[in-house]
Amino acid sequence: MSENWTPDSWRSKPILQVPDYPDPAALDEVEGRLRTYPPLVFAGEARALKKRLAAVAEGKAFLLQGGDCAESFAEHGADNIRDFFRAFLQMAVVLTFAGSKPVVKVGRIAGQFAKPRSSDNETKDGKTLPSYRGDIINGIDFDDASRIPDPQRQAMAYRQSAATLNLLRAFAQGGFASLDNVHRWMLGFVSDSPQRNRYEALSARITETIDFMRAIGITADNHRSLSETEFYTSHEALLLGYEEALTRVDSTSGNWYATSGHMLWIGDRTRQPDHAHVEYCRGVENPIGLKCGPSMDPDGLLNLIDILNPNNEAGRLTLIARFGSDKVGEHLPKLVRAVEREGRKVVWSCDPMHGNTISAGGYKTRPFERVLKEVEGFFDVHQAEGTHAGGVHIEMTGKNVTECTGGARAISADDLSDRYHTHCDPRLNAEQSLELAFLIAERLKR
Ligand code: PEP
Ligand code: MN
Repeated sequence: MSENWTPDSWRSKPILQVPDYPDPAALDEVEGRLRTYPPLVFAGEARALKKRLAAVAEGKAFLLQGGDCAESFAEHGADNIRDFFRAFLQMAVVLTFAGSKPVVKVGRIAGQFAKPRSSDNETKDGKTLPSYRGDIINGIDFDDASRIPDPQRQAMAYRQSAATLNLLRAFAQGGFASLDNVHRWMLGFVSDSPQRNRYEALSARITETIDFMRAIGITADNHRSLSETEFYTSHEALLLGYEEALTRVDSTSGNWYATSGHMLWIGDRTRQPDHAHVEYCRGVENPIGLKCGPSMDPDGLLNLIDILNPNNEAGRLTLIARFGSDKVGEHLPKLVRAVEREGRKVVWSCDPMHGNTISAGGYKTRPFERVLKEVEGFFDVHQAEGTHAGGVHIEMTGKNVTECTGGARAISADDLSDRYHTHCDPRLNAEQSLELAFLIAERLKR
């Protein structure tokens, strides 16, 4: 148990990125109601994920974390969830094969609704309104009413998370996620890709391996891992009133767990050691992610590690590096060295999205080649330092959107307007996500 911690101890700390709710009584009412609702995930599952992540920290597994920048109420359809899961599972199979290690699958899904913003306000055509902060807080439409924070949205986000999780659990365990299915989808991706020559060799080896397994009698009928998969959820723990309402004591261990998702992370803008977000996260036993951007220095990082993982438990803390393709080589080595010198057990993961956002043709975008370059730089640093490049953290969708430029179909700045649907940051589409997995696979095989 963390000392002097309660689920609401964050309330006495300074806090950034909080919405200004006009009706505090309505907010209290919703949070009170959420307190009575069932947990979305169970403590035992969060513990299992921690164990899986401990294996990543020890270099024995790889973490794949990804999903929307921001989930939305408008796009809550079964097709979206299915298409995301399908792309994500294919990435996982490619990475598992290439790295010869288990891949720990964690979605940015079933709770990823609240967004930190660089500005409190947004101005358009001479009119200034509060910024959109994610569907759990206010609406994206640029009008006065939409932008007023509405606490009822928390209950809607809870229900959407529950429904999403329900479908994901069914997909993960009901046969949809079988290796045969995922393999078939992957073959379809490869044969449709303009880069198929590059991916065919690896894909053919996966096919051969599956045929061999079948020939010697390893099938979905006798091996559950061929018909089912383990999948976990995560989101940024930004809206702390919502998180607090879903914080529960685990009856098995007597410890506090966040039950809004399996893994929570702290964003790069809200990681001040004496502030509310770090205070909340230090007291729950879930696996925690910490975004590390260019302003993170080695002492600051070690201090945060002390606060968030005082017992040096492997699997508790994942450091998510997001420096930018041109900065990773400069910033990451000193952090890795400090962590190694002090013997801290962490997972190192690479977020190649958030340091590579540019503006083109009036849209926020991310050039695919920069995303790939940051991943390469991340692997280079770990290779040079003798540490484990533990995973990747990406913003992606299973849909065929045009939000990030580049990739095998060479999406250009002019193409962005075709299918630009994100509610926040630009995501890799399904093909770009799989391409990234194949390119990381080449690196893992080296
Ligand atoms: C995010 O992951 O969507 C995000 C806001 O990231 P960061 O905190 O790293 O900027
Ligand atoms: Mn984002």
